[in-house]
Amino acid sequence: MPDRNRYFLEEAQMPGKWYNIAADLPTPQAPPLHPATGQPIGPDDLAPLFPQAIIAQEVSTERWIDIPEPVQEVFKLWRPSPLYRARRLEKALDTPAKIYFKYEGVSPAGSHKPNSAIPQAWYNAQEGVKKLATETGAGQWGSSLAFAGGLFGLDVTVYQVRVSYDQKPYRRAMMETWGARCIPSPSPTTDAGRAILAAHPDHMGSLGIAISEAVEVAAKNPDTKYALGSVLNHVLLHQTIVGQEAILQMEMAGDDPDVIIGCTGGGSNFAGIAFPFLGQQLRGEHNKRRFVAVEPAACPSLTRGKFAYDFGDTSHLTPMVKMHTLGSTFTPPGFHAGGLRYHGMAPMLSHIANLGLIEAQAYHQGPCFEAGVLFARTEGIVPAPEATHAIKGVVEEALRCKREGRAETLLFCLSGHGHLDMAAYQAYFDGKLVDQDYDEKELAMALSMLPQVAS
Ligand SMILES: *Cc1c(COP(=O)(O)O)cnc(C)c1O
Repeated sequence: MPDRNRYFLEEAQMPGKWYNIAADLPTPQAPPLHPATGQPIGPDDLAPLFPQAIIAQEVSTERWIDIPEPVQEVFKLWRPSPLYRARRLEKALDTPAKIYFKYEGVSPAGSHKPNSAIPQAWYNAQEGVKKLATETGAGQWGSSLAFAGGLFGLDVTVYQVRVSYDQKPYRRAMMETWGARCIPSPSPTTDAGRAILAAHPDHMGSLGIAISEAVEVAAKNPDTKYALGSVLNHVLLHQTIVGQEAILQMEMAGDDPDVIIGCTGGGSNFAGIAFPFLGQQLRGEHNKRRFVAVEPAACPSLTRGKFAYDFGDTSHLTPMVKMHTLGSTFTPPGFHAGGLRYHGMAPMLSHIANLGLIEAQAYHQGPCFEAGVLFARTEGIVPAPEATHAIKGVVEEALRCKREGRAETLLFCLSGHGHLDMAAYQAYFDGKLVDQDYDEKELAMALSMLPQVAS
């Protein structure tokens, strides 16, 4: 039999439940705190921003949560997604390691983001919400929510980080194609945006600022709710369909991953691929595996941030959450992996990192693009700049396997394609990409302004 490259599941094999890792953790994560009182928040505090079903998922400790039938029906436009064996990449690296990747770029928006956009839009529509406000960095989340909102009759407004809005005009066109409105952030349409523009008229924006604008719109308008594309527990939960499918596909392949790798911006695609495998380990059903989160060296929350309470946004409208953070006022340099330019990391993933269950690495964008181009030239798929971080991580592991003469099995999440990021590739080929370091002084300043929380 010829060697297989692709592992497909039938529609009927698509998981019907999400996996909630909160059920299997040895200790619970620290509670979110109210921004004004510093006390743990309750469901009522979140009600202006999210529908009840989402709030319930945010705090749930049930191990398995049903995926609603109508959500599953939409998922079948692209799910189950394929798992590939990257034989040509293995050959190019001359490694004894076996490399597998789960490809989430087959969704309509081209990344894993619709896995959460669809259920979020559906739950909102079910509870009678008419409008959603959200933020987006590179535009993958904004376009995913535009697509999802359109399917369920919701009016979607997206605040897009200014530097990405300018760098990537086609994401905005995509959002408009699916019926959403896209506004560059900081914008004059909110108090949060106006305050920042008053001090810095040319501000290039950040996810923290765009979140402030979207949260403000939701908080002030009773018919509008807020949706977040990463970071929160319910988003990580929705992404676990990725890892559950990968478990079935690795079984089909007759292999078992020793190392599981993903890029981390807010932590959702990494959690999606890793948590179902990590759950097997936490329940004592599998021996220990390595889980490697790869982040940009210019915005290194897991490797350089502090594990502390901080705000999720720049204007301090959101609850304080305990996470690895660079400080909510930190503005990362404008590198191309816009989806990775967030000052914090998912509290659940931060907690898990703090428990020593996962490792983290950081790389500059130059070496990541180099790995991404090698991947495109061997496996054919042009990866999203964010996803090149996972590829860089896997290349390093494969080269380690070669040095050590070990035939380990490596699995990574290819979180999206880069078809709308070709300007970034062009800049790379033209030698115009600089490996920007963040400003150490700005980082120290942002960290010194972390909120004081009695703990
Ligand atoms: C948004 C995005 C990321 C980063 O977000 P996570 O929540 O960390 O997954 C990574 N890759 C792609 C393709 C994205 O769109």
